[in-house]
Amino acid sequence: MLNLPPAPAIDGTTHLHSGKVRDLYRIDAGEHAGRLLMVASDRISAYDHVLSTTIPDKGEILTRMSLWWFEQLADIVPNHVVSTDVPAQVAGRAVICEQLEMFPVECVARGYLTGSGLLDYQATGEVCGIALPPGLVDASRLPEPIFTPATKADLGDHDENVSFDAVVATIGEAEAEVLRELTLAVYVRAEELSRERGIILADTKFEFGVRDDVVVLADEVLTPDSSRFWPADEWQPGRTQPSYDKQIVRNWLTSPESGWDRSGDAPPPPLPEGVVAHTRARYIEAYERLSGLRF
Ligand code: ATP
Ligand code: MG
Repeated sequence: MLNLPPAPAIDGTTHLHSGKVRDLYRIDAGEHAGRLLMVASDRISAYDHVLSTTIPDKGEILTRMSLWWFEQLADIVPNHVVSTDVPAQVAGRAVICEQLEMFPVECVARGYLTGSGLLDYQATGEVCGIALPPGLVDASRLPEPIFTPATKADLGDHDENVSFDAVVATIGEAEAEVLRELTLAVYVRAEELSRERGIILADTKFEFGVRDDVVVLADEVLTPDSSRFWPADEWQPGRTQPSYDKQIVRNWLTSPESGWDRSGDAPPPPLPEGVVAHTRARYIEAYERLSGLRF
């Protein structure tokens, strides 16, 4: 299902891993020896497929967005970013970061109910063991943000929602509580900030690691690839919300025009130029609206 292009070789590094969108390298020598080089590609995924068409500048836009958020959050939690002075080949779309010992937990915060959280709620009235009031619908705002951890799935698989107790069983109570507190604190800050700028942060996923007994925010943060952003003026509970970034791609893929059968085995077709340009503009708009900076 996941059909990734081979990660390009980068001098002075060893390729470690490729996800749907990012390629991870270890730096071999020099000042940053042993650190990680995290490169965001222009790949885009939709409906669990990595598309064969890339979105120009997406990697750079998302890298800037993540860096901007790390700065906004630095008083709440330290982060793994060491430097943006990266090899020319990946300039602008990579960061050098500390290699941490990662917690095997996807730390998800939700302020609104949708996606797998909605499915769990419809089946059980709970999400990750947290009971919610009756009568909630797709995109309802929750009474308060909740911590809904998940276990990391293998490439191409879905993450699995787990209870807080399951996290305690895996990493211990003290650690689990720290992750929950940090996840919610960061979500609350980011949700407020986004809302002031006309964007709803419905939910988001963080990954944390440890350095010298200190919990550090790692991976990417608060990008459209790790979060659901909705235009606030179009928010209407009870239906699927238009997503900030991928809606254009999703709409086209599921339109008769694409000729693609979502339930079949065939990979999605290449995207037309107009869809690419429109999607790129949406990513830029999200970045500029949130940060107040120009791309
Ligand atoms: P996908 O995100 O596409 O579902 P993935 O998580 O396997 O798949 P990436 O997100 O591209 O792919 O991979 C980044 C990997 O690097 C993740 O396994 C993440 O846990 C790990 N990681 C992120 N930051 C650090 C860090 N500072 N130290 C060590 N590992 C890190
Ligand atoms: Mg990931």
